[in-house]
Order: sequence, then C-alpha cells, then structure tokens
Amino acid sequence: MKVETTGRIFEGQCAVRTEVCRAREIGALTAVTTAEGEQIHVCGACLQHLSETSAWHIPGTRPRPRPRRVVETRSIW
Ligand SMILES: [Zn+2]
Repeated sequence: MKVETTGRIFEGQCAVRTEVCRAREIGALTAVTTAEGEQIHVCGACLQHLSETSAWHIPGTRPRPRPRRVVETRSIW
C-alpha cells in the first residue's frame, strides 16, 4: 500500500499496533494518508516496521533502519 506522510506529529493511540508498536496506549504519532485519501494515525515504530516489511511504500524513505540519532545525542549530554 502506498502512503504519504503528512509530517504532523501529535499524541494519541496508534491505529496500526504491530508487534513493535510504541503507542498502544498514548504515544507520539504521525498521520499518513493512503491513495484513497484515508488518514491513518501511526507511531514511528509501526511506520518503520511497515516500511521495512514492504507493507507500506512511503516516498522518500528507505526500507532500512536509520541511525539512532536520539541515542547519540543523549550520550553527548
Ligand atoms: Zn504503533
């Protein structure tokens, strides 16, 4: 399924909830839209998981994990 990210970030409950989900209750979500115009609220972990498993095709993203920049930033401080 081809989806596009809207870039909007907000808190809520993930609509996808894969086994790697980080927002089963409340977490940071982004909104993606499908080709049919449906909007899905999904957490970053599920978004990446679905991209890696090729379930979702997201323009501008690669189907591989990105460097964990958050961890690097924390180690500096
Ligand atoms: Zn999720």
